[in-house]
Amino acid sequence: MDLYGIGYSNIRLPNDSSSYLYTYNSIINTFPEEVFIHEFLHSLERILQERNYEIPELHDYQKYGYEEERVIGLKTWYRDYMNCNVKTSDGNLTGLDDIVYTLTPPAESDFKYSTEDKFNKEPSNVIEEARNIFRVVFRLFGMK
Ligand SMILES: [Zn+2]
Repeated sequence: MDLYGIGYSNIRLPNDSSSYLYTYNSIINTFPEEVFIHEFLHSLERILQERNYEIPELHDYQKYGYEEERVIGLKTWYRDYMNCNVKTSDGNLTGLDDIVYTLTPPAESDFKYSTEDKFNKEPSNVIEEARNIFRVVFRLFGMK
């Protein structure tokens, strides 16, 4: 996910353990850890794209003939993507270049316009929620 141009993967889970999100249902949920792997792979995808590597978009699994399977979801796509083992139409292999696994995690200095976001400050009522929405809209359109 791209957050104001800084690139950020953010997975938020509710504190309420009775939330339906924590209910595993094999008909609805496929490969429940997938969201974590998916967002992590977006980070790796971005690292290589910023270094001008030609790699498939993480969302383009169908273009390469992969389908979401029951229970395991896109596990096969992710495995081949991570191992640079995705077959292209001309018979070559593509995916994440393994150099991505040797690059160090990004430091603050890697972000030209690094800004600290207050992820811990959640809106506690409808008014704060509305204020946050307007703040985001104003920032998107360059208004203060
Ligand atoms: Zn995605």
